[in-house]
Amino acid sequence: MAELFYDDDADLSIIQNRKVAVIGYGSQGHAHALSLRDSGVDVRVGLHEGSKSKAKAEEQGLRVVTPAEAAAEADVIMILVPDPIQAKVYEESVKDNLKAGDALFFGHGLNIRYGFIKPPADVDVCMVAPKGPGHLVRRQYEEGRGVPCIAAVEQDATGKGFELALSYAKGIGGTRAGVIKTTFTEETETDLFGEQAVLCGGTSALVKAGFETLVEAGYQPEIAYFECLHELKLIVDLMYEGGLEKMRWSVSETAEWGDYVTGPRIITDATKAEMKKVLAEIQDGTFARNWMDEYHSGLKKYNEYKTQDENHLLETTGKQLRKLMSWVDNDEA
Ligand code: NDP
Ligand code: MG
Ligand code: MG
Repeated sequence: MAELFYDDDADLSIIQNRKVAVIGYGSQGHAHALSLRDSGVDVRVGLHEGSKSKAKAEEQGLRVVTPAEAAAEADVIMILVPDPIQAKVYEESVKDNLKAGDALFFGHGLNIRYGFIKPPADVDVCMVAPKGPGHLVRRQYEEGRGVPCIAAVEQDATGKGFELALSYAKGIGGTRAGVIKTTFTEETETDLFGEQAVLCGGTSALVKAGFETLVEAGYQPEIAYFECLHELKLIVDLMYEGGLEKMRWSVSETAEWGDYVTGPRIITDATKAEMKKVLAEIQDGTFARNWMDEYHSGLKKYNEYKTQDENHLLETTGKQLRKLMSWVDNDEA
């Protein structure tokens, strides 16, 4: 059974007695920096020359310095720049500013798990990863709630790494919702697998294949869009609230019967065998290596895939339809 930690298990004074640097002010960075500050923590934000988010951070009352200055001043350094550039930022600005007993923090384990960043042995290496987008992390904190987090310690130089991670999690509201203890390896591998096989990759491919099947059979794209994409949210909301059971309770018996007999014809033993291969490539580092190569050689294939899908009939149909949906919160219209 997973180990769970709440507000009473975490001592906020630990992080209040440290100096924290948040490097990066994007989705996660702004949420961590603002919420730690509001929790009475001494925070500075580290941003590169020409940063677009610098003005916003300053407007919101934070002190912004360079990443190197932030790392030098602080004894807890949270790296919240995009994963593919973390190693560069670490080499250029953080490494030489680490002192024995400092703590290096991450919001995702990728760079440590695959050895792109190799911290010295005398610092703590910890992770606090909210299980939700940064803007929700901040909003929940402001509303007195929190987004559940997972926390891990890869290297416990001081012997107090986990207490420190829990204290940090409390500072961003995480222990209000619950913090689960994990490892860098488990977090990284399950996160990559989940987004590839199920959440992003699996779901996008399923929606596109269903949509194409209906349209190729002569049905109207607008109808196919509603059936294969729009209604997905309603189904997923029910699963989120009460698992498969609540979803099946809510849909018709006909839909439920179709679920049982057709689902396994779509996601077959062959699909599951492929999932196992995908997982093996995540575990042996093939995926991470390929992604870093793609990123640092100019994102050619990445941009090709992006353009292909932007022009897909599913997407152009959806864009038109969503303009007519006053109840859908979108910024496309
Ligand atoms: P974003 O892309 O939203 O933010 C990136 C930030 O880094 C921006 O403020 C950007 O500045 C800044 N930045 C870019 N280059 C540098 C540099 N050289 N030096 C200093 N700052 C720089 O990142 P995310 O918040 O999405 O991701 C951060 C980490 O959090 C990642 O490890 C990610 O895996 C993890 N994570 C993210 C989640 C999410 O909700 N997005 C969820 C859970 C974990 P500017 O734009 O001003 O140039
Ligand atoms: Mg991820
Ligand atoms: Mg239906």
